[in-house]
This record gives sequence, C-alpha cells and structure tokens, in this order.
Amino acid sequence: CFCNLKGGLDDCSCDVESIDSFNNGKIHPLLEELLGRNYFRYFKVNLNKDCPFWYDDSKCALKDCAVDICTEEVLPEGMRNGHEVKKYMTDSLQEKEECDEMMELSTVDTTLSQESKDAFVEWTEYDDSQLSFCAMDDEDENDMQYVDLLLNPERYTGYKGESPHRIWRSIYEENCFKPVQSTRPSYSPNIVSKGSPLEGLCLEKRVFYRVISGLHSSINIHLCARHLLPADGHHGDVCLTRDGWGRTKWGPKLEEFRKRFSPESVGPQGTTRLKNLYFVYLLELRALVKAAPYFLNQTFYTGDRGEDDEVRQLLMEVLDVARQFPYQFDENTMFQGDPKEARRLKEEFRQHFWNVTRIMDCVGCDKCRLWGKLQVHGLGTALKVLFSGDIIGRTDIPHNRQFHMTRREIVALVNAFGRLSKSIRALEDFKNMMTTS
Ligand code: FAD
Repeated sequence: CFCNLKGGLDDCSCDVESIDSFNNGKIHPLLEELLGRNYFRYFKVNLNKDCPFWYDDSKCALKDCAVDICTEEVLPEGMRNGHEVKKYMTDSLQEKEECDEMMELSTVDTTLSQESKDAFVEWTEYDDSQLSFCAMDDEDENDMQYVDLLLNPERYTGYKGESPHRIWRSIYEENCFKPVQSTRPSYSPNIVSKGSPLEGLCLEKRVFYRVISGLHSSINIHLCARHLLPADGHHGDVCLTRDGWGRTKWGPKLEEFRKRFSPESVGPQGTTRLKNLYFVYLLELRALVKAAPYFLNQTFYTGDRGEDDEVRQLLMEVLDVARQFPYQFDENTMFQGDPKEARRLKEEFRQHFWNVTRIMDCVGCDKCRLWGKLQVHGLGTALKVLFSGDIIGRTDIPHNRQFHMTRREIVALVNAFGRLSKSIRALEDFKNMMTTS
C-alpha cells in the first residue's frame, strides 16, 4: 500500500479513500479554475518585515527564492492604488445595508434599558468569538505589495539547512503544546500511540499539532512535486546545474518524496504526517462550508463586472460541492466542558497560532515566505471562521457586530485550501509513479 496511507483518520470520522475520491474527482478541478481568476491570483503581502524573534541574516540568494512583484499596470483596475473599492449594488446588498442601519439605530435607542445590559453580555461574547488568529500585515504599510501567485508558484527553491530547521523547530518546540497533566477529557483516548508527539494531549492541542504538521507535509509535497529536474532535448530553461550549464524543467521527484515520507526512510512518522495533511484539509473544507453564507453577500470586486460575476458563480459551485461531502470536521467538539477552562484554552490556542504567523517573517527565502504567509494566514482565517459561533452570514444583528472578512482573508483561505487540495492530488501522481517504477 502506498506509504501505508489508507483507512481512517484520527479525531474525525473520515477516511483517506473518501477524501481522495472527493478531492481528485470533484473539487480539485473546480478549485484550479477558480484560483486562476484575477480576484484570487493577486495576493497583497509585506515580504520585508524583520524577524521579530531572532536576528536573521540568512536571506536566500538562490534565484528560485526570488519573488516577482506586480507592477501597477498589470493589476486589475479595481486593485490599483487609490482606486476606491466599490460594490455592485445587488438587491440583497441594498436591503442588507438598509437593515443594518436600522439595527444600529435600534441599539442606540436602547442604551439605558435592561436590553442594553443583555446586549453588552452578548457583545463581549461576540468580541471573543471574533478573535483573530493572525498577526496581519497592515494594509497601509508602504511595503505591502501585490504578488501574482500564478507567476510565483510554490515549488522547490533549494531553501534548506539551519534556517528552515530553526523555523520548524521553533514552531514545534516552542509553539505546539507540551503534554501537561490536563483535566480536560481526551475525546479519543486510544488513538495516540506511545512516543507520539500527541501523547498526553487533549483534543484541542492535538488539533493544533496536526494542522501544523499537515501544513508542513503539504509544503514539502509541493517541493517534491515541482522539483528541479534535468530536461532532455531543447525543452526547459537553460541554467547552471551541478554538472555545468544545462537545461532544467520542473516536475515530480519520486526520490525526494520517498526520502521524506516513505516508511523505509522515516518509519511510521511518514504515514502519520501524510494523514495530518488530510486532517488539515478536512478542517479548512469545513471552514469554507461554514463561511458560505458570508460569501453569498460578496461581490468579489476587481473592477470588471462580468469577470467578478463569473468568479462568484464559480465559488458558489465549489461551495455546493464542498457542502455535499458528508464527513465534515466537527468544530463543536472543541473548547467544550467547563466554560472558564474552555475559554482559557481557546485564548492559549489563539496566542500560539498568532506566534506561528509572526514566525513566517523569519523565513529566509522570499518565495517560501510568500507561500508560508499565505497558507498560515489562510489557516488562521479558517480558525477564525470555525470559532466565530453562529454569527456568520447573519444580517439580523447590527452591522458592527456582524462577521467580517477582508479581501486578503478570503484570498488566503481559498488559496490555502487550494494548496492542500493540490497536495492530495499530487499524492495520486506519486502513487502512480511508485507502482510503475
Ligand atoms: P524539514 O522539512 O526542514 O523538517 C525538519 C524536521 O521536522 C524533520 O527532520 C522532521 O523531524 C520534522 N518533520 C518533517 N515533516 C514533518 C511533518 N509533516 N510533521 C511533523 N514533523 C515533521 N522549501 C522549498 O523548496 N520550497 C518552498 O516553497 C518552501 N517553503 C517553506 C515554507 C516555510 C514556512 C518553511 C519553514 C520552509 C519552507 N521550505 C521550502 C523548506 C522545507 O520545508 C524544508 O525545511 C527543507 O526542504 C529541508 O527539509 P528537511 O528534509 O531538512 O526537513
């Protein structure tokens, strides 16, 4: 069996085979089409922030680490500097805005009543549920730049050694949770084998570790799937290889994949790490489904109404397909039990994740930093969606209490899920290569 990758996934009621068939046969092709559209291909990011944790002089000088920044002219009109972002007024949006205004007035009206005290309680609960999991780049910073994700694909860059090891080490050793005597119930006490990094951890802490490990697997699968290979004949780029000037091309490198994931190279950890990819996939899939009511009211503005309507239509198709997948991650099993303890744990979870987003500014290769930031931001957005209670898409509450996502959050969330989907698709190719090799 391919890397022993089969059967059930722990902490959720789903198996590898169901996800493979759903992803590769249904949602992946749709996502590829969606992510090629202007709204999703341009991501605004600051790649020049200093590492907040340690002095870092390990800037990657390899040509494949470089990122091409977009000039103003190539951007769609609606994303250029100084362009006022307008909405296309649909009937439902018009109605929503009128309704929001009325709601805001009514909250003001009740300031001195008992209802206002109740509203205050709700308000603080709301504030708690709107917690952001990401240290965001400030949109107004001068160093924010648009990057065309299609022209800067995530692939092998040659970034290796102490710099990435320090990042991964710092994430796992300083930000993932350590086993402590926990009073919280372990929802699946029998799933964790002795010696595993999950031993002794409650569900929430296991989820934290597994989403990080799944993301790590995805990044490493991408670099195996788009590795630098020698090219035959006249195809490929001319560049300096280890054997002098030659032609190269990008493609899957089975040897690299085996080195990182096969049981012969890394033991049972390889399978566990691949299963963590499926786990984080399920979590982000659920976040997309949960965010669907919010997307319904978005116009995906780029300044070209025809294109924006098509993008909206395509996203709705993706969400329809996503909704039909029967085994969704269940966020309601998390942060349960004693409310005080659950709240403390949620805050701890949020702070640890927040740190991970800041560590992305320490990645010493620009291309890896770009994709690292986008994917961690997407994962943080998924967590925000999952833990925002039931306010998503609700228009019967005052505007300033409604759930909100920025364009960057939407782009990051959908692209991050697209990356996981592509990794799972790439596993199919590696499986075929292994059978024929
Ligand atoms: P690493 O992947 O560096 O792993 C370090 C250690 O972590 C391993 O020895 C193992 O003990 C453990 N480990 C490995 N995988 C997992 C897992 N899934 N779960 C739990 N533990 C694990 N390189 C590129 O070529 N292109 C990229 O786009 C790219 N993006 C990156 C983005 C970020 C944010 C970071 C930190 C690194 C990125 N890298 C990228 C580098 C890449 O991830 C590896 O660090 C590098 O290839 C060196 O690999 P390695 O075999 O030494 O092990």
